[in-house]
Order: sequence, then C-alpha cells, then structure tokens
Amino acid sequence: MQATAAGLPGRFRCGINCCNLRQIERASVSTVNFYDLTLEQLRESLTGLGKEKFRAQQLYQWVYQKGIENFGEMSNLSKVFRLELEKIFHFNLPGVVERVESRDGTTKLLLDVGDGQTVEAVLIPADERLTLCLSSEVGCNLACKFCYTGKRLLSKRLSVSQIVGQFLRATEGLPAGKRVTNIVFMGMGEPLDNPEAVFSSIQVLTEALGIKFPKKKITVSTSGLVPLIPLVTESGARLAVSLNGSNDEVRSAIMPINKKHPIQQLFDACRSHARETGNRVTFEYVLLKGVNDSVEHARELYRLTRSVPNKINLIPFNEHPEADFFRPSQQTVFRFKNELIRLGAHALVRKTMGRDIYAACGQLTSKFPEHPQRMPRDEFEKAGYSTA
Ligand code: SAH
Ligand code: SF4
Repeated sequence: MQATAAGLPGRFRCGINCCNLRQIERASVSTVNFYDLTLEQLRESLTGLGKEKFRAQQLYQWVYQKGIENFGEMSNLSKVFRLELEKIFHFNLPGVVERVESRDGTTKLLLDVGDGQTVEAVLIPADERLTLCLSSEVGCNLACKFCYTGKRLLSKRLSVSQIVGQFLRATEGLPAGKRVTNIVFMGMGEPLDNPEAVFSSIQVLTEALGIKFPKKKITVSTSGLVPLIPLVTESGARLAVSLNGSNDEVRSAIMPINKKHPIQQLFDACRSHARETGNRVTFEYVLLKGVNDSVEHARELYRLTRSVPNKINLIPFNEHPEADFFRPSQQTVFRFKNELIRLGAHALVRKTMGRDIYAACGQLTSKFPEHPQRMPRDEFEKAGYSTA
C-alpha cells in the first residue's frame, strides 16, 4: 500500500513547516520516515488504515525503547502487518559526518541533514550533568550581530527526524551508565522560527512509550519571537530568552528582531509564561566589550528583569572568525555579575565549554569551506584559556 500526502495527518498538509511538507511530498512517492511522526500522528495514520490504536504504541516501543528499526524483528506483529508496514515507512536519521572532542570533554557532532547540508549538536559534561545542545535550523535569518550562526542566512528548517536524530546520534555513542540529563535548544537556528518541528520533536522526546525524556529538563531558547512564546508555555518545556541588551536601543542595535518585538512586548510574554507555568525564565545575556557590559547596564538589567521570576545567565562573548565584537576582561565580567548579585538578582556566569572546537554558545555554524575545525592553539591561549 502506498502512503500519500492526502492520507497523512493534518500537520503535514498545513504548509507552515515547509521543510516537513517537502519531505512528505518526497515521501508520497516513496515511504514516510518513521522518525518524523509523533505517537499521535502514527496512531492517526495507522487507524486510517484500519489498524487498532495500540499498534502505534507497540511500534513506538520497538523503535524508541528497544532500538529496533527492522519490522521483521517486531515479534508481536503479524507477518502480514509487518509486510504492510515496510511499504509505508522507512527509517532515516542524520548520519554522523564528524565527531570532534574538546580539551574540556565537550563533544561536537557534525550531522548530515541532506541536500549537502550539515548541522551541529553539542554534548556538554558538567559534574553530574550531561547537557545536549540541539540545533533547529541550518543558518538563521534573525541575524543577531554577534552570532556566528546568524552570519549565514537560513538554508534549512530541520524536520522532526533531524532534531530527534541529533539526540539519538549523540546518545548512541555514550558509555554505559551515562545519559543525557538536560536538553537545550540553543544550537544553530531559532527554534521558534521552526515551531512545528521543534514542538513535535519535544513530543517525541518526552513520549512515555518512547524516549521518556522529562519535559522539565528541556529548555527552548528564543531571541524573542514574541507571538510564539505561548507555544513554549503549552509544551511544558522551560523558556530561555536571549536578552543581551538592557534597553531597546542597545538590543535593537545587536538584535534586529527587537525592532519588530521590542522589550516591553517581550517582557509581557515572559510574565505570562512565568505566571502560567510557575517557572522562572532564564535570561541569557552575552557580554560584549564596550557595548553592554558596564555597571550601569547591570543596574538597568536588574531593574528590567525584576518583574519576572528569573535567573540570568551571563555569557562572555565567544569569538569566531567573523566576529566584530570582543570579549570583556574577566574583571569586567565579575564586576557585572557582582553588581547584579548585590542588587538581589539570581545571576551566574555560564562556564565556557568547547570554545577551542567552536562548540561554545554562538560559535556553531556547521561546515562551510572557511570554517576552521579548531581555534588555533596560540589564539586560544592568548584569550586566557588553558590548553591543558
Ligand atoms: N536562536 C536562539 C537559540 C540559539 S541559543 C536564541 O538566540 O536564543 C544561542 C545563545 O548563544 C543565545 O543566547 C545567544 O545570545 C548566544 N550567543 C550567540 N552568539 C554568541 C557568541 N558569539 N558568544 C556568546 N554567546 C553567543
Ligand atoms: Fe539566530 Fe539565535 Fe544566533 Fe540570533 S543568536 S542569529 S536568533 S541563532
């Protein structure tokens, strides 16, 4: 039996997510990638074929809990049903092109997402935690001035299988007993510019009959696509906002999205999120030398953020080959943080991880000809970093 776009769940026909749509158009002449479907969608497509509802659960358990991709091995399904399934679905995850290890234990994976394009996912160990940083797009149209990813225009919105696939690929190489404890959508791209695939991926990752990843351990970071922030609230994931400026003037100068959705709108959305979920919002604040790093800026940041239950993550700027900004001195960074703390804010400086392999915040851009794999050792040391 041949799957057709018309016979598929509504999500694939809405046209919002052009990436998924294209994939399904391709699938209409072949088969559907199993990893693109939430459990609900799988149920819909199987019941549409006259199968019992529980069949979808059985398939999910085989694939996501037992790691079986071969219908022939799914012993609790009839032979006829297995043959039918083979004609409807295929399994396709992004392939690992390269795995680069930092001196600090951070691992960056370069993954093939088709059409000659790649994305990066980063595994960051810290004490008992192992955080996986996922990408949602190749390139990013929001063009924040300081961000390496933003230097490349959007060339692809990732599909569900390409997002969930980053998790599956990153975890398949882990030593026994090691598991990812936190997922952050802080890699390449703006998650709220690819909402359908991102929120469906969260459903797949957290499905009780599948991967069972805890929702509360997933954070979606946005540069401020304000009208879509309620989707984060609905999803049950945590919200992080890349603030980076303590007033509209500074923020608009470095983040063009602020001209469309200025700070007041952004904070209204953050307040609603905090009220509805009872969770704090994380504000990320990249410290750029001479731009937003003065004690006055710290005071303004405190006044701005205190109306929302929050924590502030200060990220000293990470340099990259196309940077027009500089990282402030350690002294400036700590003066800024100490001022926030003195005023009563919950602020910390995010530990820089994976900077030597261009895996730190804002350094991801995947592979293109001039992208170096590692920062030259002398540059890394000059910037005050140990190479031990
Ligand atoms: N597009 C989303 C998700 C990416 S998260 C967002 O912007 O929130 C990437 C985080 O790294 C953001 O908080 C961003 O402000 C920060 N960032 C970008 N470029 C950086 C750089 N060069 N150094 C340090 N942080 C950077
Ligand atoms: Fe895009 Fe986020 Fe980079 Fe801005 S900081 S360009 S929104 S990835």
